Amino acid sequence: MDNDTLLRRSLDAVWHPCTQMKVHETLPLVPIRSGEGPWLIDFEGRRYLDAISSWWVNLFGHANPRIVAALRDQLDTLDHVMLAGFTHEPVVALSEKLSALTGHALGHCFYASDGASAVEIALKMSFHFWRNTGHPGKNRFLSLAGSYHGETLGALAVTDVALFRDAYAPLLRACDTVPSPDWRLAGAGQSPRDAAVTAAIALEAYLAAHHAEVAALIVEPLVQCATGMAMHDAEYLRRARNLCDHYGVHLIADEIAVGCGRTGTFFAHEQAGIRPDFLCLSKGISGGTLPLSLVMTTDAVYAAFWDDSTARGFLHSHSYTGNPLACRAALATLEIFETDGVIAANRRLAAQITAAAAPLAADPRARHFRNTGMIWAFDAATDDPLFARRFHQAAMARGLLLRPLGNTVYFMPPYVVGGEEIELLVDGTIGALDEVLG
Ligand SMILES: *Cc1c(COP(=O)(O)O)cnc(C)c1O
Repeated sequence: MDNDTLLRRSLDAVWHPCTQMKVHETLPLVPIRSGEGPWLIDFEGRRYLDAISSWWVNLFGHANPRIVAALRDQLDTLDHVMLAGFTHEPVVALSEKLSALTGHALGHCFYASDGASAVEIALKMSFHFWRNTGHPGKNRFLSLAGSYHGETLGALAVTDVALFRDAYAPLLRACDTVPSPDWRLAGAGQSPRDAAVTAAIALEAYLAAHHAEVAALIVEPLVQCATGMAMHDAEYLRRARNLCDHYGVHLIADEIAVGCGRTGTFFAHEQAGIRPDFLCLSKGISGGTLPLSLVMTTDAVYAAFWDDSTARGFLHSHSYTGNPLACRAALATLEIFETDGVIAANRRLAAQITAAAAPLAADPRARHFRNTGMIWAFDAATDDPLFARRFHQAAMARGLLLRPLGNTVYFMPPYVVGGEEIELLVDGTIGALDEVLG
């Protein structure tokens, strides 16, 4: 199929996500023919650096030969089997490996296919734990201002991004939010840690008053991504953990975006020296090849469901729960982390990118330039409501895929970018800022 035919047929037949389709009257879709390492290649052979890892999922480049080989082998062996009443090697091996990565603190893995479903599972499990242990009144959830946990109705209820939430507000269960520890909110002379302490004090006040009704606090550890890469000090997580323990409230770590090495450690919560009661993973876990999500939890939670009564069990399911192909892709992804020493290598790569981005950090048009692990972000100094779209187009014209969140421009590159690509990332960003902001 040629480029123009594909374009026209896509607009006729495909309803694209997160899009007012009418914008495509003037803004063309970009048909992609293939992917190769950190590059996407269109039908005319133009190459785009995938500097946001295709919505934060692609860790080791497109068509990664090691993941592809594992998938081919798995396809020849077992494509799928239902996980109720059956089991298979990839799901067992993956669960054991992930458990080991948490020091076996979270030794029970429940599977689904997308991030929002993992969040739904964690919320339901938390509530059901309290119900099974004689506290059915603990049925409310707490999230941070600006939180994003997905867009199904349960996940959207704990999401605090007006653009996604407002139209559906009448359908959503009321949930409360507490102030974000975002370090940009620190007052004059305050450190990121001070901002975290201030937010933790507000959390304590909330829990002191409401803990009897609260099942769980859900957080995106270290970086609240979708709201605009709001970064916080690990001190917040330490305090939140203590407060949750003190008040008998679960802590859910939504590491769907920040897990899998994105913040500089394999799990973001490690940087606070804590463990959550529930850990949600998705996005990067399959290396960006197949939809997979999972929730890990503790022996204590698991034990509260272990009973002769069917109804005290966790009866949730999805048709593709624990899909062998997706689990195998995840195993291949974890193997790359091990054999290539990715966490240590990323530390050097991140230092290289931060050094290359020094001109941006010093650019007055780039406010609050910030970095955590393999995430960089700044807030463009503009009131233009169309900034995100204009910047995206200007970057694409330079062979660079960036997709700002409002005024926040961010980089979330695959872990396989090198010198030439880093140069394009920085120069292309400066060029796009020149074009859009002058
Ligand atoms: C993307 C994301 C989700 C939702 O995952 P989907 O696969 O898009 O449903 C949930 N939480 C966080 C933090 C995310 O970034």
